[in-house]
Amino acid sequence: MGPQRADLLKKELNIFTFGDLLEHFPYRHIDRTKVNLISEITPALEFAQVAAVLVNFEVIGQKAGKRLVAQVKDKTGFLELTWFQGLGWVQKQLEVGQSYLVYGRVTFYNGQPQIVHPELEVLAAEQQLGKNFLEPVYSTTEKLKARGLGARQLGKLTQLLISMLHERDMQENLPAGILQQVKLIGRFAAYRQIHFPQTLTEYDDAVKRLKFEEFFIAQLRMNLLRSNRHRFSKGVIFEKVGDNFNNLYKNHLPFELTGAQKRVIREIRIDTAKGKQMNRLLQGDVGSGKTIVAVLTMLLAVDNGCQACLMAPTEILSQQHYKTISSLLEKINLPVRLLTGSTKTAERKKILKELEEGTLKILIGTHAVIEDVVQFNNLGLVIIDEQHRFGVAQRAKLWEKAAIPPHILVMTATPIPRTLAMTAYGDLDYSVIDELPPGRQPIATVHRYETHRSKVMDFIRAEIDKGRQAYIIFPLIEESAKMDYENLMKGFENVKAYFPEPKYWISMVHGRQPAAQKELNMKRFVEHDTQIMVSTTVIEVGVDVPNASVMVIESSEKFGLSQLHQLRGRVGRGAEKSYCILLTGTKLGNDARERIKIMTSTNNGFEIAEKDLELRGPGDIEGTRQSGVLNFKLASIVQDRQLLELTKNMAAELLENDPDLISADNLRLKSFLNQQKGNVLWSKIS
Ligand code: ADP
Ligand code: MG
Repeated sequence: MGPQRADLLKKELNIFTFGDLLEHFPYRHIDRTKVNLISEITPALEFAQVAAVLVNFEVIGQKAGKRLVAQVKDKTGFLELTWFQGLGWVQKQLEVGQSYLVYGRVTFYNGQPQIVHPELEVLAAEQQLGKNFLEPVYSTTEKLKARGLGARQLGKLTQLLISMLHERDMQENLPAGILQQVKLIGRFAAYRQIHFPQTLTEYDDAVKRLKFEEFFIAQLRMNLLRSNRHRFSKGVIFEKVGDNFNNLYKNHLPFELTGAQKRVIREIRIDTAKGKQMNRLLQGDVGSGKTIVAVLTMLLAVDNGCQACLMAPTEILSQQHYKTISSLLEKINLPVRLLTGSTKTAERKKILKELEEGTLKILIGTHAVIEDVVQFNNLGLVIIDEQHRFGVAQRAKLWEKAAIPPHILVMTATPIPRTLAMTAYGDLDYSVIDELPPGRQPIATVHRYETHRSKVMDFIRAEIDKGRQAYIIFPLIEESAKMDYENLMKGFENVKAYFPEPKYWISMVHGRQPAAQKELNMKRFVEHDTQIMVSTTVIEVGVDVPNASVMVIESSEKFGLSQLHQLRGRVGRGAEKSYCILLTGTKLGNDARERIKIMTSTNNGFEIAEKDLELRGPGDIEGTRQSGVLNFKLASIVQDRQLLELTKNMAAELLENDPDLISADNLRLKSFLNQQKGNVLWSKIS
């Protein structure tokens, strides 16, 4: 191939190497063994493939209605083909009297079958392609087609490449035992058969083999990272449970811990006593009580002679943590300090000095705590709250803060489905608080159309008059920020009209405000100076106002599931019954309708996360995109869950028996892993 076409392949399809071409898998095959007769086509048949002769074609209609209509016939009847786009290009391919293989989705118009935008191939030329009953169809682009690199030509290139390859060019990487156990075909055969299968079974075998390989190798890498950390990393040893921990636990806990909280604390204790660095993800739905787990873990560090710090993604959240935690730790006379961007210079100097000398044991703050000027005397534990707001680079800094890397606990309220956690965080240890504190009333969630807004406002008024507070959230989507901003302002005026001063006061918070103004408005709501918070999603994470009992989400069809769930989690934090009202326009798409249905039927964050994964696929789940481990070519963590589970178990078992992959059977696996490039560092620092 000449350099120009090669460049185009790189640009359009990211195909740089022979390997890339081999992994440009066909998205379907044309089954040469199944040709429909035109008379057999019924509405029940979704796709049809017919071998037919072109009878005539013409362009009809004007402007937007312009289309190309062709008639083809076989020995049983006529079929109409229609094109609305690319008329010039299609016409050039058509020749009356020529035989074509026609494939496409069948629709019926006036009782007559027709295919819009069919795939067309000249039959005679097709027969030269060879013995393949199943001909691969590849995705390509208009630009490539124009340069003679359409689906057909990509197939020919791939066929040529495969004919030049030998078994030794694509060495087997899986152990023979596994191939036998799972009944997998060899690697070389799989690459050949996924492109050019002789039968459907051959194709299925190829897909099974390659999907297995994808998952298995990924699981193996994750497991290796984790087991190597367990075996070789150094960590501070928290060997005892000491006075501070015991004093708080026995004498000053405001409530009995839930079983799940106790279990997680136990998991952390075991993990931090081993002398290996802990790298643990703690998941717990909003309101499940992660804070107290964080506090007790910090006391564990302090009782073992170390400093601990807790980072939150925003000023407000860190202030809130500071308030809760300092009032708890006051009872055991343990000082805590807050360090954020707005800490005054004198106070900052004092904190830095105390940290360096080691007299200050517990620090809470924003990312100000990981700035270079902040030097700890003996940092043993870092807790990161609401992890997805922290960039990877920021987290990486933590490793340099102490001679022995501190234990790391990442807490997140964004529930991640099990399958996803297994894949994206397979190298981390994992704890979950899957139980809410007792006595919580479930939040009642309802769907209302915008046309009923005044009733919703009446409801809010009734709640406010009972002494409660309410949130009203507006979407703010970046691409159309200006319009959304105007909507927010309009919405604000509208709410004001329903709730006039001085009887009612309203806070408004959005991303375009200066930080100080944002803080002030937030503070007024927290302190109950205002009864209503009109806001964009900036309040999404972590804000805690137990007195708020109503969450209204405007244009909720524009939000994703996990975001809706996070927003809803802002209410239901106190003793009062809470409500979430999802307002939408009257016209709803299927997906939006589905999301609303899920929200009104469950409060369970993990269930919602599973649905979210099904609806959107893994690429969009927050916090996992950068991981890169979810980019499987063939396998899908949604559709192939069972396979994922299987590979996870098999990878774990294999490493248990042979942690260094030194047995003869595993050598090829080891050399394959060593050859593979790929950045895995990200996972070290989560
Ligand atoms: P999150 O996991 O969302 O950070 P928090 O730690 O803020 O949750 O806890 C939510 C609320 O539940 C707080 O007001 C906290 O005091 C309370 N809480 C936590 N654990 C318990 C418990 N075991 N029993 C009763 N209330 C609890
Ligand atoms: Mg929290």
